[in-house]
Amino acid sequence: MPIRQHYHYQHADGTNLSGVKVGRLKGGINTNFIVYRIGSVLIDAGPSNQWRHVKAFLQQGEPIEQLWLTHHHEDHSGNASRIARLYKLRPLAPALAQQKLARGFRIPALQQMTWGKPRRVVTETLPERLQLDDGSEVIAIHTPGHAADLTCFYLPQQRWFFSGDLYLARRLKYMRADENLMQLMLSLKQVLALDIDVVFCPHRGIDEQGKAGMLDKLDFLIQLCRDCQRLAAEGEHTAAIGEQLLGPPEMMDKITRGNFSKLNLVREALLVDLAQFN
Ligand SMILES: [Zn+2]
Repeated sequence: MPIRQHYHYQHADGTNLSGVKVGRLKGGINTNFIVYRIGSVLIDAGPSNQWRHVKAFLQQGEPIEQLWLTHHHEDHSGNASRIARLYKLRPLAPALAQQKLARGFRIPALQQMTWGKPRRVVTETLPERLQLDDGSEVIAIHTPGHAADLTCFYLPQQRWFFSGDLYLARRLKYMRADENLMQLMLSLKQVLALDIDVVFCPHRGIDEQGKAGMLDKLDFLIQLCRDCQRLAAEGEHTAAIGEQLLGPPEMMDKITRGNFSKLNLVREALLVDLAQFN
C-alpha cells in the first residue's frame, strides 16, 4: 500500500521546505519516516530500505550539498552513506553518533525488518552553528534522552524547529531500554524556552501546534513521574505500578523482548528528580 506523501511548506520570508514520507509498512507513525529538505540542505537520510524513494525525492530538486543527521538511529541515518557518495559530500553528525555510524551498531530484529540495515558512513562533527543556502542561521541543540546523541535543529529567523525524535507523541506508553527519561524531560524543558512557531517531526509530520504538543508531553511525563513515585512510596512494585497507570503489558513487550516496554518507562519515571520541574 502506498504511504508516500509529499510535503511543501513556505515561510513568509521565502524559505521553502519540501519533504517526502516513506516507509515499508502502513502502520502508523512508528513505521513512517519523513525526509525534509530546504534547498540544498537535507535533514536526516531516511531508512535504507526506502532508498529508491528517497533518491527520487532528492533528484527532484537542486543537488544536495549538506546532510545533517539528528542521531544515529537507522531510520534517520540509513541512507547517509549512499547520499554521501551520490553528492560527494561528508554528512554532519553529532559527535556522540560518529563512532556508531562509522563502525556500525546493533539493531534489534523488528527494527531491522521495518527500516533495513544502514551502511557504515564516515561523518564530520556537527558544529553548533550552521547555515541554510541563503545564509540564515541554524542552531544545533543537543537534546539527549531518546538517544544520547539526539540533536535538534532550530531556525531562529523562521522560528522553525526540527525535532528529530524528541517530540513524536504527546503521550508515552513505552520506552526503549536505552532511553533516559530524566534527560528527555530536561531536553523538552530546554526546547520549550525557545521561540518556536512550527515543529517538523520526521514521524508525525509538520505540526503548527508542535510547541503546545511538546509542553503537553512534558506535563504528561511530570504527572506520570509523580504518580509512579507516589505508588512506589506506598510500597507498590514496578510491575503493579505499570499495570495501574499504563495498563497491562502488550504484544510490544513480547515482540521486542522488553526493549520497548511499559516497565522501562516506570523504572525511568522512578529515577526522575521532580524538583527540576517545579
Ligand atoms: Zn530515534
